[in-house]
Amino acid sequence: MTLIFATHNAHKYKEVKAQMPAGLDLLYLADITHEPPVEETALTLQGNAEIKMLALAQSTGQNCFADDTGLEVAALNGAPGVYSARYAGPEARDQDNIQKLLNALVGHRNRKAQFRTVIALYWHGETHFFEGICHGTILETPRGYQGFGYDPVFLPEGHTQTFAEMDLVQKAQISHRGIAMKKLIDWLSVRDLQ
Ligand code: IMP
Repeated sequence: MTLIFATHNAHKYKEVKAQMPAGLDLLYLADITHEPPVEETALTLQGNAEIKMLALAQSTGQNCFADDTGLEVAALNGAPGVYSARYAGPEARDQDNIQKLLNALVGHRNRKAQFRTVIALYWHGETHFFEGICHGTILETPRGYQGFGYDPVFLPEGHTQTFAEMDLVQKAQISHRGIAMKKLIDWLSVRDLQ
């Protein structure tokens, strides 16, 4: 059984692949030749996940899924949220986004935040959604070199290491994407995977 993950992000692909049960072959956009052009124009994570998933389903006709993730910061009324990738501008690098976030939080005592992922699954012509949330706080100084995005400044609740200090298996066990993926895998596990 093959499932295609509609992402170019090799970090995301490795995290999710580490969770996949035996018998499920996971591909991503680097593995396929005709990847569809996609613009993430929706105002919600669910909407963008669905746009990415439908584009891939229409171009390949195969079972596939897409995720969309946002960092929702309480003191910033949920920003950057659905705009997390482009927080510091259309060409922003991870460190630009992190710097903008740290600047925005100067003077705020409430540093609570959550990562939220919505996965849209295309399964034999039907669409299904799965959500995962990971609560935590935003540190004042980045720590760690693994992962991607805002990982160096995100300290998950109940842990002493940032996501960037964890290996991908540790991160997948507690992360927003890991939780949403676990729901998807549980859902698949009671279906016929032929
Ligand atoms: P995407 O649209 O789902 O790829 O995610 C939007 C942005 O959220 C990414 O460009 C990253 O900056 C951030 N992001 C998504 N997932 C993670 C994660 O697991 N850790 C840290 N940042 C993330």
